[in-house]
Amino acid sequence: MRELFDKVLGAYLGLAIGDALGATVEFMRPREIVLAYGVHREIIGGGWLKLARGQVTDDTTMSLALGAALLQGGAPALSRHAGDDETLVRSIGQAFVLWLQGKPVDCGNTCRRGILRFLHEGTLAGPYNPGDAGNGALMRNLPVVLATLGNDAAFERLSIAQAHLTHHHPLSDAATLGIGQLLRLLLLGADHTECRRWVEAWTNGNPAFGFTPYRGRATAYVVDTAQTVLNFLTLHEDFEAALVATVNQGDDADTTGALVGMLAGARCGASRLPPHWLHRLQPATVQAITDQASGLLALAQGLKESEHV
Ligand code: MG
Ligand code: MG
Repeated sequence: MRELFDKVLGAYLGLAIGDALGATVEFMRPREIVLAYGVHREIIGGGWLKLARGQVTDDTTMSLALGAALLQGGAPALSRHAGDDETLVRSIGQAFVLWLQGKPVDCGNTCRRGILRFLHEGTLAGPYNPGDAGNGALMRNLPVVLATLGNDAAFERLSIAQAHLTHHHPLSDAATLGIGQLLRLLLLGADHTECRRWVEAWTNGNPAFGFTPYRGRATAYVVDTAQTVLNFLTLHEDFEAALVATVNQGDDADTTGALVGMLAGARCGASRLPPHWLHRLQPATVQAITDQASGLLALAQGLKESEHV
């Protein structure tokens, strides 16, 4: 149990570290990063959002908003069967509305459009939209993975339901489920070799996300994002090496960084995260993440028990 908690905490703190590190070079080209920083490897803030040192962006704060809604709903809300999730999904939508009204430092266009649609029309999903293949639903799904650990059906149902609040596209769905499944595997102890093997099998089954040879595209298009994340995660076993290589690819570097940080953080555990990065995060962020990590894990345990009564 202690080892599982270390991995859960490693994933959530890794997400925040990758977000904070990558945000400095978001929307930059790799060549521009070389000119400005050589190799970008320190959490220093700045970037186009003019962040404070250690500040995180929407990738982390939207995950925290989703996590808070899941915690508020409690285990009984998670265990409802398909088609009966409306109350919980509505409360997640409500949490996104409050998050947006709190004037977050950043919000993607597709997320904003989906949240405003929910606010004004009350609908839990928009119609299928070819423009919804961004990475905004994928980037925030960590709390669903944690809260449903050990329950395949609840994981799949709630991942898609939270995703569709803002993103309704089969590639977004596939990436959210695929990266979510990989995260579950790593939390349960898969090592680097097992990780590579799983990624190879998954990309064989989902060829759109195949990344060999790697095309070097790290945009917010969910295919580019997933290819970049899987490429660097499987190339480097070491957390720091994987994350530095990822964010120096630039473009949507906070989100590719957050996702590699999450997966590599689950692989190595919180106790092996680089201390110089961990200590740069804002204390309030670390506190919120630590609280949610144990709360969401307890939720997963409660879900298991409530399904067995
Ligand atoms: Mg961001
Ligand atoms: Mg981003």
